[in-house]
Amino acid sequence: MCAVVRSDWVPHSVDVSVPSIARAYDFMLGGAHNFAVDREIALKIDRMMPGLRAGARVNRAFLGRAVRFMTDRGIRQFLDIGSGIPTVSNVHEVAQQVDPRCRVVYVDRDPIAVAHSELMLADNDRAAIVRADMRDVEGVLGSAQVRRLLDFTQPVGVLMLLMLHWIPDEWEPGALVARYRDALPDGSYLAASHVSADHVGQPMHTAAQMIKDSGSRDRMTVRRHAEVLALFDGFDLVEPGLVGCAEWRPGGPADISDVPDMNMLLYAGVGKVHR
Ligand code: SAM
Repeated sequence: MCAVVRSDWVPHSVDVSVPSIARAYDFMLGGAHNFAVDREIALKIDRMMPGLRAGARVNRAFLGRAVRFMTDRGIRQFLDIGSGIPTVSNVHEVAQQVDPRCRVVYVDRDPIAVAHSELMLADNDRAAIVRADMRDVEGVLGSAQVRRLLDFTQPVGVLMLLMLHWIPDEWEPGALVARYRDALPDGSYLAASHVSADHVGQPMHTAAQMIKDSGSRDRMTVRRHAEVLALFDGFDLVEPGLVGCAEWRPGGPADISDVPDMNMLLYAGVGKVHR
């Protein structure tokens, strides 16, 4: 086993011979918590869809805008599902910069994402991470971290960014989102971003196949606009609706990529619970 495998930041349960989407995404964002197999799949896809790193940055910029949009509307507690390996401008950093009293619970099933989130949050008593599969809705919502930090009598900002395309149709992503929605009080929000082939075409389907062939446990489901829109059932989409990620209320040049395809690689939207 090579030295990096035994690095002290690698939990023993991690199989470093197959790629993980959390680590490949960390690589695309310039992070250091990834292995050769992760870099290999990321670079392979990047060669086919040049500018992929810009696409990842456009998504992170959307994350910042979505959190600020919610804090501007009084949201002070967040549930970030499929939060990934911590990078710059994580949800608690954006939210607590607006109001240090903001509370954030992260959820991820990837052991490295969880281990690094735990390290990052060790001194932050208003943020925590739950290691869980998002399909275990009761486990997530009933976790000690959620019960300690989130008050479901007050609006909550839920984020599922670059997350729901890892839920194949047979796992019924719409029903899953609805179970989270039903737990939320009026005035809560859902922000989501999701890959699509509507603009980039076949390379996105090829990327999904490459991920499958790599042996990764992650399976990517590419969806069309109407299918992603359906995931927001029961939410009122705020303007401008479900649009290319960079088109969602861009604040400046940093929110937009100069690789045009990367602005439309993902759909992004924010919906409000309204009963
Ligand atoms: N949300 C962050 C962002 O948009 O910058 C990170 C997105 S990363 C591409 C996707 C994350 O979803 C990974 O960390 C992966 O482990 C996590 N994930 C995938 N399927 C999951 C599931 N069923 N339950 C919990 N997390 C999951």
